[in-house]
Amino acid sequence: MTSKHLGNTRRITSFHPPQRTLLGPGPTEIHPRVLTTMSQPAIGYLDPVFVGMMDELKDLLRYVYQTDNPLTFPISGPGSVGMEYCFVNMVAPGDKVVVCRNGVFGGRMLENVERCGGIPILIDDDWGRPVDPQKVEDALKREKDVKVVAFVHAETSTGAQSDAKLLTQIAHKYGALVIVDAVTSLAGTPVRVDDWGIDAIYSASQKCLSCTPGLSPVSFSERVVERVKARKDKIHSWFMDMNLLLGYWGASTRTYHHTAPTNSLFALHEALLLIREEGLEQAWARHQRHHVALKAGLEAMGLRFFVEQQYQLPQMNAVLCPAGVDEEAVRKTLLSEFGIEIGAGLGPLKGKIWRFGLMGYSCRPDNVMLCLSALGSVLM
Ligand code: PLP
Repeated sequence: MTSKHLGNTRRITSFHPPQRTLLGPGPTEIHPRVLTTMSQPAIGYLDPVFVGMMDELKDLLRYVYQTDNPLTFPISGPGSVGMEYCFVNMVAPGDKVVVCRNGVFGGRMLENVERCGGIPILIDDDWGRPVDPQKVEDALKREKDVKVVAFVHAETSTGAQSDAKLLTQIAHKYGALVIVDAVTSLAGTPVRVDDWGIDAIYSASQKCLSCTPGLSPVSFSERVVERVKARKDKIHSWFMDMNLLLGYWGASTRTYHHTAPTNSLFALHEALLLIREEGLEQAWARHQRHHVALKAGLEAMGLRFFVEQQYQLPQMNAVLCPAGVDEEAVRKTLLSEFGIEIGAGLGPLKGKIWRFGLMGYSCRPDNVMLCLSALGSVLM
């Protein structure tokens, strides 16, 4: 054959990614046990063995989320799909939603409210600051009948942590449900769904869970399930309609909804098992311990953190790039000479900060030491 396309494909060989040390905002490195589990033979998504594994997966997710919510499962899609799933189901056209924006991902929540036909009541806080609970309370006092308060627990774009427990208490005082983004917080810093009374929460597989990207664990309280069931209008996404997906993840007899990404789900099962073996509190403590070590090293080099100490996330360290230093060149050298990936600033922080992630399996003492010595030699 003389097809141009066949000629092009002849030059293509197997893809072998280089070995990298992933110290950015995600994805993270993946434990060898998770990779091995993922490479096992494929089985069907309704195979009884797979269905048994799904139940264990739900139990393990309840453990990392610290909840008894029956409706706790991984959505087939990245964190943004988990986010969208919450809004599409919980926000009907005309519903008032308080949206807290203190970084990129609060902005993405706002987009979701608008696309669902909700009425956003936007609370802006400076990037690098936590969500201000007083502003949320003032908005709820002022506006009547707010249905949902939405906020990001751990803002990956800045490294700032907000008080999810307090924000949830305030929302409930005014009869609103909460949607919490725990994409970066889950398994890296305490998230206690039941103790804090969180209604809807989503995360992503590639951050502190250290699994392959493409899955979004979610958990919904009974209050959310009841509200969604009571909706009179048809939820305008077929794939994301909670009532339909319940037949696969929620029911005791599972029926086809979509073809689940089986091997990725094997991997998530193993990644969660690793966390259970370590212990959730031990995992939180490990993130804090290595954050303190990284911070000491970065500050000893004269670098300053972007976020005030009391709001700093252990797993996402945003540091100001010193004046006169080429932010992009430093990142490129770390990658090309040391195989280390760190994150750049997003939006208004582009060119101004570096983001050092210490998440999940990447959060190890050898990575802290490698990162500090490589950065030190690049900045010298
Ligand atoms: N929310 C937060 C706080 C995030 O950090 C991210 C991704 O970095 C997302 C949502 C979106 O997740 P994904 O990139 O998996 O779609």
